Amino acid sequence: MRLTKFETVQLISICQILLILIVRISDYFIEYFVQCNICKILSDNICHSTIAGTIYLITNALEKIFLSQGESLFSRNRIIVFNPNDLVQILSSMTIGSLLDLDHIIYAQSFSYYSITHLSTRPFGHSITFCIIASIISLIVSWKYPIRAGVLTFSAIFSHQLRDSGAQK
Ligand SMILES: [Zn+2]
Repeated sequence: MRLTKFETVQLISICQILLILIVRISDYFIEYFVQCNICKILSDNICHSTIAGTIYLITNALEKIFLSQGESLFSRNRIIVFNPNDLVQILSSMTIGSLLDLDHIIYAQSFSYYSITHLSTRPFGHSITFCIIASIISLIVSWKYPIRAGVLTFSAIFSHQLRDSGAQK
């Protein structure tokens, strides 16, 4: 997909508005309108996943604006190219942001809703230490785009932790 720089800035703006709406509305919606427990878990996971994907999309678009070669940075008509790799990266970010909550099950050693949502402390995956270590590991094991992999992992995990810290649980 080829967008002009101006269209890319519009895309980033739309994503930022979407992000704010997701963050502000999702917790309220889940708390007051979603009744069954499994639906609450799925809705919460979809929100984490969407937030992680949106944040990485914004990061990716900003990187393309500032680092790509070609016309002047300030040129409105500068062409920004999004390729299938970007989609894979966004989906990876969504997956990491979503799977992080598996540590609740590991920590609780149970699949019961009450056990996994009423832990005495935050599970290991929800710590800054885990976020940093996981980002460094992905940076080391990624042979093709190490910095991008590190940023992707960090933004996916950190966005999940930020949302959790603001949620009333
Ligand atoms: Zn979580």
